[in-house]
Amino acid sequence: MRLFDTLTRTDHELTPIDGKTFRFYCCGPTVYGPAHIGNFRTFVLQDVLRRTLETGGMRTLHVRNITDVDDKTIRDSQAAGQSLTDFTAKWTEKFHADCDQLNLLPPHIEPGAVEHIPQQIAMIEALVEKGHAYPSDDGSVYFNIASFPGYGKLSRLDERELDLGKTQNARANSDEYEKDSISDFVLWKGRRPEDGDNHWTSPWGEGRPGWHLECSAMIKQYLGDTFDLHSGGVDLVFPHHENEIAQSQCACGGHFAEHWFHTTHLMVDGGKMSKSLGNLYTLDDLKTKGFSPMEVRYVLIGGHYRKQLNFTLESLTGAREALLKLAKGAQTLANHMNGETALNSAEFGPFEPAWEKLNRDLNTPAALGGLFTGLKKSANLRGKDAAAALAGFNRMLRALGLVLPELPREKTVSIPAEIQQLAETRWQARANKDWATSDELRDKLKASGWLVIDTKDNYTLKPEA
Ligand code: AMP
Ligand code: ZN
Repeated sequence: MRLFDTLTRTDHELTPIDGKTFRFYCCGPTVYGPAHIGNFRTFVLQDVLRRTLETGGMRTLHVRNITDVDDKTIRDSQAAGQSLTDFTAKWTEKFHADCDQLNLLPPHIEPGAVEHIPQQIAMIEALVEKGHAYPSDDGSVYFNIASFPGYGKLSRLDERELDLGKTQNARANSDEYEKDSISDFVLWKGRRPEDGDNHWTSPWGEGRPGWHLECSAMIKQYLGDTFDLHSGGVDLVFPHHENEIAQSQCACGGHFAEHWFHTTHLMVDGGKMSKSLGNLYTLDDLKTKGFSPMEVRYVLIGGHYRKQLNFTLESLTGAREALLKLAKGAQTLANHMNGETALNSAEFGPFEPAWEKLNRDLNTPAALGGLFTGLKKSANLRGKDAAAALAGFNRMLRALGLVLPELPREKTVSIPAEIQQLAETRWQARANKDWATSDELRDKLKASGWLVIDTKDNYTLKPEA
């Protein structure tokens, strides 16, 4: 498949560096509350990327971390009167439950920052040794961005005409900051009273790691110095991913990520959905309003990942109708199989255009559109052909991670084979404009207790009330 790369601003074919397994990393959640559906836009699209690669026959290694120590987790665990471990374990569990409901494949490896303190310390030691980092008076250690000529390439800081030389003495000690305050960033934070019990021993005294460092250390451990793809929401391009590149390339010497995949924000009322703005919806909020997680997933993949997506409750109602329509279409195809089985084939049949869209810069909205077009094209298929089309349809559903709703009971009533056969013969007669036979068979069906309802290019059978 081809995918747009944030660094080079062009699209590239995705192929594993080692020729075997596509190894990729996703910055995971900060577990200090429930993730909101903006966060899930990013996680769901990463899931569709993985599913698309796997459906195309590629093996993947998916690593996604849990941020379980940073300014926010410490602050909120204290406010909750819980230990950092208990607090983050609770929210990690909630995150997993939500992922499960949204049909996200669990990553193959899910490392946590607290479990990897020694690896983070080792990376800082390497950076200090090579002259890329320096300790400060308060027991913290900073990365010297002027020591890395590549700093700012990913986020194109040069286009903002920022002079790195001028920032040499500016330092950021907090985990998050904006582009205007580009500065040396903290790798190790010297112990402060507000951190409570959350401190570890290091060569620079007690303290804790800075947020940007954890991903670099865990990537080194699980993916090595060069790997296939790195990803997150667009807000991570600067400073988080810029800082990761600096740390990793300076400490390890590899190329770091071959490809950068960033999803644009989910918006609400024209603003980015975020915890700090207080305009968020969680999965539970929407379930309370009567919507299903699959309806949420459908909405989240309903926009292209490089475009902002404005979230509305009406879009969830639209998703419900769309999913129902797909379920009905699948059932019609199944009814037309006339006893043939939907084999697990590698073909997409009428859904080939949908598959192609997915493989061209992960165009999920066009792929969804292709599901409906494919169903329309399949209306006249019968027997083996209908079975093959259904197999292609199901393959597309797996790539998109969609599970269709069960149709209301009366619609799923099973039709006896001889009735189905009569209806088929009648449909053929009708197609041949043999109205006499068609009417005769309609009466015969009625006498057996079945009504035929004709539409433009199909018919349905309903048991007489
Ligand atoms: P966090 O838990 O804040 O570290 O965020 C987890 C992931 O969600 C990161 O990849 C963020 O970039 C992403 N993210 C945060 N807000 C949004 C949003 N409104 N739309 C899409 N992705 C988001
Ligand atoms: Zn990260």
